Amino acid sequence: MQRDIRRPIGRRDFLVGSMGSLIAAGACRFAPAEQAGGWDPSRKVLFVSVDGFGPEYLAQSDMPNLKAMMRSGLYVEGADVIPSVTNVNNASIVTGSFPSEHGITGNYYYDPGTKTGTFMESPEFLLKPTMFEQAGSRGIRSAFVTSKEKLMFLSRGADFAVAAENPDAESATILGPAQDVYSADINYWSLRAARHYLKEADCQLVYVATTDYMMHTYPPEDERSQVHLRTVDELLGQILDDHEGLEVYLTADHGMSAKTEAIDINRLMKENAIEGEAVPIIRDRYVVHHANLGGACYVYLQNPGDLERTLDLLRAVPGVEELHLRQEAAQEFQLQPDRIGDIFLLAQKDIVFGDIEHPREEVSIRSHGSRHEAAVPIVCYGRSFDASAYRRNFDITRNFEWEG
Ligand SMILES: [Zn+2]
Repeated sequence: MQRDIRRPIGRRDFLVGSMGSLIAAGACRFAPAEQAGGWDPSRKVLFVSVDGFGPEYLAQSDMPNLKAMMRSGLYVEGADVIPSVTNVNNASIVTGSFPSEHGITGNYYYDPGTKTGTFMESPEFLLKPTMFEQAGSRGIRSAFVTSKEKLMFLSRGADFAVAAENPDAESATILGPAQDVYSADINYWSLRAARHYLKEADCQLVYVATTDYMMHTYPPEDERSQVHLRTVDELLGQILDDHEGLEVYLTADHGMSAKTEAIDINRLMKENAIEGEAVPIIRDRYVVHHANLGGACYVYLQNPGDLERTLDLLRAVPGVEELHLRQEAAQEFQLQPDRIGDIFLLAQKDIVFGDIEHPREEVSIRSHGSRHEAAVPIVCYGRSFDASAYRRNFDITRNFEWEG
């Protein structure tokens, strides 16, 4: 819970009209003369981070509204930020930067000094201003909507922030009750909330991040996935219909792959009398999604003298695709060196790292974290765009033009 950073919808923001409709009390307060930073007061912008929406989900789903935006706007198959996990990439998107600048290097932070860990989901971990803080400094009213509560720490600076998983009481009255995080419905709630903030709450900039339970559970050709994404598309269509000239920037935090084998790096280290901790970078509270098994891992060593021995051991492990020392990893992937392990491991496509019963086990899951889930769609709509400037998911915010 980050109640301290959210500003729930308060009575001073809304009046309930005589017909029961919601009227934004501040709807008319942005006269052109008051709008700083050259922002056209009629401009509305929607950012969408569709969790786990790899290009194959786009290709195999019936999404006519999104595909129309791709045709008349810009579409690029780009790359996410490695490690391809949720917190790292949503932090990159809301700050328009690599983890070397914003500081979020995983879902989980391990402190080798105290040998304790914590989820990387509180605002003090985030070292760069968010787009909501930038919006606020320009007098632009913004909202942050997330399906998963764990992303609320990214809402810093937003006028409104809400999580579908656990909305505050007043938001729940307006937007509907809390949703099951292991459902498709939670994403529909989030998109309806985004619609509400753009329309009834008269926000000018809204960010919505869904959750990837459906992608972890179903491949793109499964009918349940198809219904989910078709419904997401219908809800996007409703938002498009609300606002002439709406700008939409849509991408994904990572893709998703089928995984057939898990490796427990901690067990391998223990068997070889190497003291330390292997932290699966995907580790978070939402265990049903992925059982904390993912395609990337930070290895922290207790004794620096064990480094060569550990490298020799891990190089010989089938399924380990890449192995990088701290500084080299920080440079290659633009990570904060003091927030990653001594060794950074990336897995082959069908392999995951995590805590299991044996050193290796067969699994049948869908997950992410490695380079093999790095391809993501990038869709920009409603302005003219220079396609060559869009290579990464966070280019949608890094290239965002605040003026106009
Ligand atoms: Zn994700």
